[in-house]
Amino acid sequence: MREFTYERVRTAAEATSALALNPGAKYIAGGTNLLDLMKLQIEVPTHLIDIRDLDLKGIDPTADGGLRVGALVTNTDLASDRRIKQDYAAISRAIVSGATGQLRNKASTAGNLLQRNRCPYFYDTDQPCNKRVPGSGCSAIGGASRGLAVIGTSPACIATYPGDLVVALRLLDASVEMVAVDGTQRTLPISEFYRLPGDTPQIENALAPGELITAIILPPPLGGRHFYQKVRDRASYAFALVSVAAVLHVDGTGRVAFGGVAPKPWRVEEAEQALAEGPEAVVEIAFADAAPTEQNAFKVPLAARALASVIAQSKEANNAL
Ligand SMILES: Cc1cc2nc3c(=O)[nH]c(=O)nc-3n(C[C@H](O)[C@H](O)[C@H](O)COP(=O)(O)OP(=O)(O)OC[C@H]3O[C@@H](n4cnc5c(N)ncnc54)[C@H](O)[C@@H]3O)c2cc1C
Ligand code: SF4
Repeated sequence: MREFTYERVRTAAEATSALALNPGAKYIAGGTNLLDLMKLQIEVPTHLIDIRDLDLKGIDPTADGGLRVGALVTNTDLASDRRIKQDYAAISRAIVSGATGQLRNKASTAGNLLQRNRCPYFYDTDQPCNKRVPGSGCSAIGGASRGLAVIGTSPACIATYPGDLVVALRLLDASVEMVAVDGTQRTLPISEFYRLPGDTPQIENALAPGELITAIILPPPLGGRHFYQKVRDRASYAFALVSVAAVLHVDGTGRVAFGGVAPKPWRVEEAEQALAEGPEAVVEIAFADAAPTEQNAFKVPLAARALASVIAQSKEANNAL
């Protein structure tokens, strides 16, 4: 690990001011992703700004009937909150499908959003990787790509966004609240927060340098039955090969978002109109532009089967009413 200095701040203003004074600095929350990357010297901050004391640990009602989730709410606290379990169950289910209890106790909401990808070549510093060293090439194209993306990719990068929580947040149309180093606040829909790789795969989201995430805003509850189905190589402690977050209503309408398949959570609203025709019809539209590799072409039919399973669970629950 490279040498770095460290400070612990108490307010968002202190955090952004500290960042402005230290251009090579990074915020640290739970540290469950950043510290691993620092040990491998993939992230090399010269200064760490520890934000864990900021007053961003509340889950509070918003004026329109939604919830404001502070950036430092732990994954465990978010998943177990009574209102989240009742009205936003896709979030609870997505979180508990990931990592381990120990990690979820430490991991923060904002840190979860900003976790880096799990492409094997990103972690192997002897291999070219455009995301780690822009312009060096992409070892995954023509290499091991089984776990990587099938849609939204570019000739520069085919990595997936690896997380679970964000797939549920995209399903529910959550927004990200941020404050810039000059104190300017803004809120961006999560649909606009993540970027596709294009020819700059090192830029993964819309966060400006030094911008601090302060909260996630959840719109009023959608109702319906919530699902998060994660397909992976091991039953626990593994990232999604394919995941499906869904809200399904008794009349057969609903929303669907996929994880593990693209550089960002993948939701195509137009595809949701085909729910009545079945999972294959939804996947045909949602993955119309898929360009999988030979090794990961299985992900498209797997997405249809995962969605079929969710639809079957929903019908079974409706029949039991
Ligand atoms: C073994 C293992 C298995 C895992 N499995 C899963 C899984 O199955 N599913 C899943 O979704 N995740 C999984 N994770 C990832 C885990 O969820 C993330 O590591 C965690 O959510 C990151 O949160 P953190 O608070 O520890 O972030 P940190 O490591 O502290 O920070 C991560 C990044 O976010 C930045 N940051 C943090 N807070 C803010 C803020 N408020 N504003 C701006 N920038 C900020 C940091 O500068 C850093 O760049 C796994 C992790 C490990 C180590
Ligand atoms: S897929 Fe992306 S992260 Fe993986 S080697 Fe290529 S550029 Fe790097």
